[in-house]
Amino acid sequence: MPQGDEVKMYVCGVTPYDDAHLGHAMSYIIFDVIQRYLQFRGYKVKYVQNVTDIDDKIIDRANKLGISPRELAEKFTASYFADMDALNIGRADIYPRATEEIPKIIEIVQGLVNKGYAYPSQGSVYFRVRNVPDYGKLSHRSLESMMAGMCAVGGEEKEHPMDFVLWKASKPGEPAWESPWGPGRPGWHIECSAMSLKYLGNTLDIHGGGQDLVFPHHENEIAQSESFTGVKPFVKYWLHNGMVQLGEEKMSKSLGNLITIKEALERYSADAIRIFALGSHYRSPLTYSEEILEAAERGAERLRQTANNPVSGQKTGKRIDIEQYRQRFIEAMDDDFNTAQAIAVLFDLAREINRYDSEGIEAEEARNMLKELGGVMGLTLELPEEPPIDIELLRQKITSINKELMEAHLKEIPVDRLDTDAEAVLEELMTTRNALRKDEKWQLADYIRSRLDEAGIPYEDTPKGPVRKRRR
Ligand SMILES: [Zn+2]
Repeated sequence: MPQGDEVKMYVCGVTPYDDAHLGHAMSYIIFDVIQRYLQFRGYKVKYVQNVTDIDDKIIDRANKLGISPRELAEKFTASYFADMDALNIGRADIYPRATEEIPKIIEIVQGLVNKGYAYPSQGSVYFRVRNVPDYGKLSHRSLESMMAGMCAVGGEEKEHPMDFVLWKASKPGEPAWESPWGPGRPGWHIECSAMSLKYLGNTLDIHGGGQDLVFPHHENEIAQSESFTGVKPFVKYWLHNGMVQLGEEKMSKSLGNLITIKEALERYSADAIRIFALGSHYRSPLTYSEEILEAAERGAERLRQTANNPVSGQKTGKRIDIEQYRQRFIEAMDDDFNTAQAIAVLFDLAREINRYDSEGIEAEEARNMLKELGGVMGLTLELPEEPPIDIELLRQKITSINKELMEAHLKEIPVDRLDTDAEAVLEELMTTRNALRKDEKWQLADYIRSRLDEAGIPYEDTPKGPVRKRRR
């Protein structure tokens, strides 16, 4: 595909009836990175993601809570966008909502009925799978194998047990829209066909979603779209991400072992959650554990420190071969979006920058490359905001330090200036401490550092002098 061309990408969106969880995070992080990477390589991307804002689950939960389905869907759609922003997931270009796309959905259902691919029955409309000879091509199943072991419950409304609903007759009290078949609402599968056709045309370059959507959802999308338009293929590249597991089990609402995005963000930074999600191949299952998330957090911290290290080294003519890192990054991502490999390249680059920093050699170009490639992974690499200094606590600690300084017949640190300029007081304290270190008065120097540690202002002694450490 020539660069500059537009890549048409569709990803199945959420059904907003509850808070999104880490399974959602993984899927949307991956497609966010694919969008960012394609743009990095010079493509335009048109990205559409639907919102299934009418569905059985929404109706059930709204009834339980005594609010309208619309109110519930709006609440959790807003919650979903807040989560996506917090994870630094860029927005899709269009988020069509099922309830706002009813005319297009009815047009396609009617078209399928006219062509003999669908039939009305008792106010609903079903898709006739037997009229699609290649039904099952995505999931590599035949109609016979799909039916093996299933009992044809409620088969009388349908001609064939595998026929699926396009339009659902509404029950009394449920939200309903007028249609040629009576009041009802769209089925889930037809929604994605309608929205992708309307906003992206007959053929998509990329269609994404979790592996749990391969059958029946995506199989049905293919049958609907190709039967309606007569154009094959509906999708050039299907990308299915693996599921998030907790131990041996899939993380799912029905198993009650979900970790919501909000819960995860209380404990870990967005960069750490992204490193976790991108740390294995998108098609593989991803196992959640606190150890793995903690390791990802330490990794994020290392990258952040390197990206923001304020040292200004000397220009010596020796420089990091940043083009080599860029090439390795591109090779990894061109290999079926091997994000794990791409992340490894970032860590290799950070390690080399750290080596330059410790030798006092300038590495700003490489640092910028680290930020740029990190950005393609959606990592902000921003240092978390410093918590404000607790002045009263610091006053107590400096008072203790002053006692020791007095005993050593040294000049005290002026605590009364803490209220107006705490930074200047800290600077003076560090000057005193540097002098102590020069005189090899290690014990007193260590004493000062420990008290500052307790005041929540940790310093680290480096070959180039003490550096204040940042803490989340
Ligand atoms: Zn879908």
